[in-house]
Amino acid sequence: MDARTLAALAANPGCGRRAVLDAAGVDKGALAERLGTPGAMGQSPFAITRGLVFERRLRADGCAELVALLRRTLLPEGDEQAPVEVPDLLVKEGAAVRAARTRSVLAEAASRPGVWTVLDHPLLRMEVAGSTVSLEPDAVVVRPDGRWTVLEIKSFPILDGSADPAKVGAAARQAAVYVLALRATAAALEGTTLPASPYAEPEGMAAAPSTTGLLVCPRDFSNAPTAASVDLRKQIAVTRRQLARLTRVEQLLDVLPSGASLEDTPHSVDALPHAYSPDCLAACELAFHCRTQARAAGAVETLGRGIRAELGGITTVEEALAATTPGGELARAAELRREALAMGAGMDVTPAAATTSARDLAVVP
Ligand code: SF4
Repeated sequence: MDARTLAALAANPGCGRRAVLDAAGVDKGALAERLGTPGAMGQSPFAITRGLVFERRLRADGCAELVALLRRTLLPEGDEQAPVEVPDLLVKEGAAVRAARTRSVLAEAASRPGVWTVLDHPLLRMEVAGSTVSLEPDAVVVRPDGRWTVLEIKSFPILDGSADPAKVGAAARQAAVYVLALRATAAALEGTTLPASPYAEPEGMAAAPSTTGLLVCPRDFSNAPTAASVDLRKQIAVTRRQLARLTRVEQLLDVLPSGASLEDTPHSVDALPHAYSPDCLAACELAFHCRTQARAAGAVETLGRGIRAELGGITTVEEALAATTPGGELARAAELRREALAMGAGMDVTPAAATTSARDLAVVP
């Protein structure tokens, strides 16, 4: 799993299907094609090429252009000559050795106040639902005061100081995953433990990762880089809660017969529980397949998470429609609402003023 898949999983933690497929490293795009429901996910070849050219430019000559941008963006005025170091992290011995090298560089950087350190493609490790996940941020900057800042390099442009909110949101969700991985690394380095509750913020850590990330993008219509700070607090809180809710993969696998293969017999996929919502269309290659199944079952999930939550125990569109007919639960709720309002301030309680929604039950005394 990478930060993109973890962020997508965190957006839909109830989906056992995606959790198993991602943990198994199944190519969901190819699987969707074999199932006859290909999706239209991913970047265009043009965007991919543009992104590669942009990143190459930033990293050329020992990250010269990236460091120059960081000097302009992060260094306080008058501190332009502060030393900035870019240690070599590209060891070839595998993920465990790369992660160890990243940890030792972070520890070393924290012990040298006054020096800025840029970690280009560090490797971080984190436990998620019982599995160890390796994550590779574009870069992490260690400031002289010991704060760590996550850098996300993206190929979409910042035009006149603003960028596509959906793309910024996706980048922020990925950066939030990296901040959580950095917190786990900081705790390991300091020999402390992170709070067990996903609602509690860690306290008293010397090398606390900053909750503000730095987004590096092409400026306007050029290929020259610019940077913008992004507040990640909300994404960090949501992602931490959602990751804590992920079910362990071993438990999810219990529904599959022994020896089942997700790639060779794609219909084993259907045995895994899914949690379709229209949000999946922008986040998962299997969206068309899961939507077809949800529609065939008449599930209210196809109408969106908001409506699903409002309908409470009503799980199918058919049940919801039946509930609105005279004598049904929703019709009765609307009637109670009208009566409650009539007892109140003498408001207009004509049927047109009342809506037939389970939320209306909240106003019934
Ligand atoms: S599309 Fe299907 S597999 Fe993918 S996240 Fe949604 S419900 Fe899960």
